[in-house]
Amino acid sequence: MVQKTSTDKGSIIFQTKAIDDKIYIKEQKGFYQSIRRYLSVALMMLFIVTPFIQYQGKQAILFDVEAQHLKVFSYYFYPQDLLIFTFVFIIAAFALFYVASKYGRIWCGFACPQTVWTLMFLWIENRIEGNRQQRIKLDKSKISIEKCAKKLGKHGMWLTVSLITALVFMSYFVPAEQIYIEFFTLNTTSIVTGWVWFFALCTYVNASWVREKMCQHMCPYARFQSVMFSDATSTVTYDIERGESRGPRKLNREKPQELGDCVDCNLCVQVCPVGIDIRDGLQYDCINCGLCIDACDQTMSKFSYAKGLIRFASETEQHSDSKAKYGYMALLLICVGFMANWLNNRSEFEVSVLKDRNALYRVNGLGEVENSYQLKILNKSDAKGHFKLSYQGLEGFRIESKKTLIVAPQQISNYTVTLIAPLGFKGKFETFDFVLQDESEEDKLLVTQSTFHSL
Ligand code: SF4
Ligand code: SF4
Repeated sequence: MVQKTSTDKGSIIFQTKAIDDKIYIKEQKGFYQSIRRYLSVALMMLFIVTPFIQYQGKQAILFDVEAQHLKVFSYYFYPQDLLIFTFVFIIAAFALFYVASKYGRIWCGFACPQTVWTLMFLWIENRIEGNRQQRIKLDKSKISIEKCAKKLGKHGMWLTVSLITALVFMSYFVPAEQIYIEFFTLNTTSIVTGWVWFFALCTYVNASWVREKMCQHMCPYARFQSVMFSDATSTVTYDIERGESRGPRKLNREKPQELGDCVDCNLCVQVCPVGIDIRDGLQYDCINCGLCIDACDQTMSKFSYAKGLIRFASETEQHSDSKAKYGYMALLLICVGFMANWLNNRSEFEVSVLKDRNALYRVNGLGEVENSYQLKILNKSDAKGHFKLSYQGLEGFRIESKKTLIVAPQQISNYTVTLIAPLGFKGKFETFDFVLQDESEEDKLLVTQSTFHSL
């Protein structure tokens, strides 16, 4: 049994399948499958090669967990720069909304990692166990040496790919030039080894067992993408007027008058990675992969019918009247503008001040009131920072601290600083600013506010 429930919401059919239904996907060639293959290879290469890109003799993109920063070429992002991640996620979300409003779940069908890895695992399965019919036969057959060898070979290959995937993923966190050598010579720390096997297991389970169930039952994008769907959204659609009534017929014979163009060959169902029949109408499970288009075009060509019985089309067949997509594009551009501006004005140094919590103030041997502070300076750059410390907002005070405050590259330095009020100072509570002036660039100032307490 495939369908348990089926309800109509707008024009999208919501269906639920039995979780344990196994889908035997037929390998399909064609225009959309070629795009999927080439795109998958390109994305995978990008994923593998990126950690090997070098910048000034070091890994260009590295999430250094120990140092708590993300390095992207010359930029170092710290937890203090959390805003950049907010921008990145918002931009990614609006880009996805824009694409979804125009082409439905095209991201799912062509570029989602779940799709890319599943495609690779299916390719391996086809090479080892054979085509769809051979796989069904193998699964139904009794246990034999051949069956065991094929199953072991397939799962062995899947595990190998999963392990390589996990190592590549970890090379974004541990320098790429060291993780491969250390892992295969058993020299990685237990934490790194644990994470590698954890990610390998996740990849294996996801791309070999879970597959389309992730898209149908777990991925939140599948649930809310129908909100972005409009009459102008281009999705994979079966031309019901042209196709019905469906029915088989003989090749090279005139088409029976009572029949439409659908020859009921069932190929569109056999190639579908989520196991649906697009002829039942637009369904939220459909990931817009276009495989049923390739399959149907192949059948249409065989019968010398015009291609496009299944095709990308919108309900109105107009592709530009959705106001939502312009809204998403505008929001996307605004966010990109904000992010560019924020990046441009982002300082490579940050300073914070903490007042001594043990005593609000002290009176020294000369009778002067003094307050102590901890200055914390973060250097996000590749160069050493040298700063002179001064203050503004108070008159006649003096500072006791090191003459030059030095911060090593990508380090945080702590300095204890004392501010001393002039004799006879009458204030009780004053606000003022600490000013750090970069010795190499006079106009580069770091300012942070604090307070001075007195008797
Ligand atoms: S119905 Fe067609 S486009 Fe949709 S998931 Fe199945 S094969 Fe892909
Ligand atoms: S592939 Fe085309 S002709 Fe064959 S069943 Fe599907 S819609 Fe009909």
